[in-house]
Amino acid sequence: MMIHSRLVTLFALLCFFSFAPTAFAQDFVPGELIVKFKGKSNHKQVSQFQSKMGGAAQSRALSVKSNVHHFKVSAYQDIQSLIHELRQDPNVEYAEPNWILRRAEVVDEDNRTFSIEEVRSQVSSSGSYAQNYASVKVTEAWAQVSIDAAAPVVAIIDTGVDYSHPIFSQSNALWTNSKEVPGNGIDDDGNGFIDDVHGWNFFGDNNSPIDDDQHGTHVAGIILGIGQDIFATTLASARIKIMPLKFLGADGSGSTSDAIAAIHYAVDNGARVINNSWGGPNYSQGLHDALKYAYDHNVVLVAAAGNYGKNNDVEPLYPAGYQVPSQLTVAATNDWDNLASFSNYGATTVHLAAPGVGIFSTIPGNSFKFMSGTSMAAPFIAGLAAMVVREAPNLSGYQVKSLLMSSGDRIATLSTKTVSSNRANAYTSLVSSKAQVAASSYNPEYVAAAPASRTPAATSDEKKGCGLVRDIGEYGGPGAGTGVMIVSFIFLTLPIVTWFAVRRKLKGQNVRRKHQRYLMDSEIRIFVGDKEVLGQTKTIGAGGLSFQTNSMIETGQIVPGEILTMSVQSPDGSGEVQVQGKIVWSQKDHSYGVQFANVTESVISHIRSWSGSLVKT
Ligand code: CA
Repeated sequence: MMIHSRLVTLFALLCFFSFAPTAFAQDFVPGELIVKFKGKSNHKQVSQFQSKMGGAAQSRALSVKSNVHHFKVSAYQDIQSLIHELRQDPNVEYAEPNWILRRAEVVDEDNRTFSIEEVRSQVSSSGSYAQNYASVKVTEAWAQVSIDAAAPVVAIIDTGVDYSHPIFSQSNALWTNSKEVPGNGIDDDGNGFIDDVHGWNFFGDNNSPIDDDQHGTHVAGIILGIGQDIFATTLASARIKIMPLKFLGADGSGSTSDAIAAIHYAVDNGARVINNSWGGPNYSQGLHDALKYAYDHNVVLVAAAGNYGKNNDVEPLYPAGYQVPSQLTVAATNDWDNLASFSNYGATTVHLAAPGVGIFSTIPGNSFKFMSGTSMAAPFIAGLAAMVVREAPNLSGYQVKSLLMSSGDRIATLSTKTVSSNRANAYTSLVSSKAQVAASSYNPEYVAAAPASRTPAATSDEKKGCGLVRDIGEYGGPGAGTGVMIVSFIFLTLPIVTWFAVRRKLKGQNVRRKHQRYLMDSEIRIFVGDKEVLGQTKTIGAGGLSFQTNSMIETGQIVPGEILTMSVQSPDGSGEVQVQGKIVWSQKDHSYGVQFANVTESVISHIRSWSGSLVKT
C-alpha cells in the first residue's frame, strides 16, 4: 500500500511540476538592514548610527564575536537609499537589505498524513530504510556503524522541529544544552540566550523552536533516519543529535539576519553539520560570512539546490551558491535516479544529488507524510555527513565534503548537472569514513615549516620514513637539482581551507585569462608526502589546474608564503608527477590556497592526458 501511494504521489507531482513556480521576488524585510562596521565590535559605531536615525533604530549584534549588526529603522525608511549612504561611510564595511529567505519545499498534492500506529504496522517489520527506494544503501550502512561513537549534532535551521514526536523523544534525539538550567530565567552558560535548553527560536526570539509548519520536522526525520530505522516499533538510541533552530515562520519565510544569528548559534554550541533547506535569489555578504565562520570552525554545511528546475551556475540561489569550501549543495533525484524535474542543478555549483521526490518522513502531531523538494535531498546528505563525522570525528568539514562527493554512485545523467556526477550512497560513504579513521588519527611529529633555504637537510631515515620530508631535487623549480630538502605537509591530518591553482611558470600579469579553461571530467588524486589530499579538481587549462582542498592556516601549522611539494597522481595510480608551490591568499575565493609557481610543460601534459574528455568552460 505504501508503494502504491508513493506512485500516486509521484504522478501527482509530475502533474504539479508542469506548473513549476517562478523564482522568488526580490524582496527584503521593510525597514531593516544588516551592517558590518570595520574593525572590532564597537558600540560607538552602533550608537552613532542610532542617533543618526533619530534614536529610532533598534539594534542587535548578530554574533558576539563579529561586528555585524541587524538594525530595525522605520518601516517607511527608504532602505536602498539609506544603504547607498552607509556605503559611503568609511567606518562601514558593508550594508545590505535584510533579504527574505524561504524553505525549499515543493507543494505536494498528496497531502495525506499517516499516524505513527499506521506507519509502524506497515513498515516496522522490515527493519529497512523506507524513506525512498533509490539504491542509496542506507540499511547496508547501518550494519557498518560503530556502536559506541558519540552522536554528532546536526543543526536544523528551518521552521523548527516538533521534538515531542515519538521518533525524536523515544530515541532521545534532541540536542540538550547541558550548561543551561531549564526555566530559571538566567543565561547560565552566558551564550546570549536565556534558557536555550533545546536550541532557539530566532523567528519569535524565544526558547521554543517548535515547528508551526511541517518542513523542519520532516527534514529532522530524514536526518535521523540516515542513522537508524525510525519506523521501528522500539526505537534505538539516536545516532545523530538534532539541534532545532527556528528562523522560518509558519508561512515558511524568514529573514537573513535570523539565519545569520542561527548559524552562529549552531557553530558556537557544538554543531558539526548544519542543514539549510531554504534559500533566496539575493546575495548577502553577511550570510556568506556566517557560512565562512562555520567553515572556519570545521562545520559541514549542506544546502538545498533549489526547486526551480534552473541552472545554479547561471542563476544562483543562496546559500546554495556561496563558494564556501565545506558546503555541499544538493540536487534532488527520484527513486530511479533521474534528476527531479523541479530540481536546480549546476555542473560547477551543485555538488551531488540525493533522493528528494516523495520522501516519507515525520510531521508534527505524531504523524508522517510524503514531501518533495531539494529540501528533502539536503537532509539526506546532512544525516550522512553526521554519520561520517561519527565514524571519523577528526575529519575536517572540507574532508567530509570531499569524502561524500567521491563515495557516491556515478549516475551518467548527473554528469552535466553536478560537480561530482554522483548520487549519494550511504554504504560506500560509511565504508570510506571508516578507512579515514586511521588516516585522521595519523599524527606525525610535526616539523616546523620553514623556507627551503632554512630547512635542515633530512636524514636518510626521514626520507624513507613518514613522508614529512622529501627530496625534490630532480623535479624542476628554483633550487631544484641542488639537493635541497623541502618540508611537505600532511594535509589529511589538518582541517584546512584551500583553493589551489597550479600554474605554469608564466611572466606578466593576468596571464591566466589568456588560456582556455576546461572543466575536469575525471578526478585527479593529489598526494602530499604519502597522504592523499581529499579534494575536487575544478578546471584545467594550459595555465594549470585549479582544485579545492582544505587547509588550516589559522593554527599556524601552515605558513603563508611557505613552499611545499606535492605529488599529483593519475586517477588510476599509474602515473605521478611532482610539483612545488607556495601558500597564497586568494582574494577571489576568500581562502588560502597553494599556488604552483614552477610547473613544467611535462607536468601539465601529464595532467592533461589524465583528465579525460574535457568540457570547455
Ligand atoms: Ca544560554
